Amino acid sequence: MPEITPAAPALVMDFVNTLDIETGSDAIDSPVALRRWIEQRLGTRLRSVDEAAWHTMIEARESLRDVLASHSGAELSRPALRQLNRAGKSAEIRPQWDDAGTATFEPHDAGAYGALGRIFSAVVTAQSDGTWDRLKVCWAEDCRYAFYDHSKNRSGRWCTMRVCGNRAKTRTYRERHG
Ligand SMILES: [Zn+2]
Repeated sequence: MPEITPAAPALVMDFVNTLDIETGSDAIDSPVALRRWIEQRLGTRLRSVDEAAWHTMIEARESLRDVLASHSGAELSRPALRQLNRAGKSAEIRPQWDDAGTATFEPHDAGAYGALGRIFSAVVTAQSDGTWDRLKVCWAEDCRYAFYDHSKNRSGRWCTMRVCGNRAKTRTYRERHG
């Protein structure tokens, strides 16, 4: 049976993984590309994405990557948290009550900052439903891919044991025996 990643951490994961560090390919390497990604992933139609919003989102992506790295053993980055707080101000997330009396955090902005707001809102959801700690960044320096740790004891450190984990093990083996 395939392992399914819950929706909230999956959105954050997909956002962080718009940049593939190993190959250098970036799905949101321009405001136009970011607009396309937002339309495809969030179903939000935008007229355009301005340069400033694009910069903020690129920074937020890397800050989120740094924060997720703390789930796989790295120290929590304070500069990353500060940047996320700055970015959050632009996102303008507000509580929204529906007719049934249920409140959710919704971004006020209808543009790119709103998309960032929805990603931040997914972070809050993941933190409250216990899935946040499972969202990690691969321990391999040249990979740093975001992945959801499905393991029972939540001890995963590499995106896929087959590729990165084995590569790291081979390196350690060579260092010890070479
Ligand atoms: Zn990896």
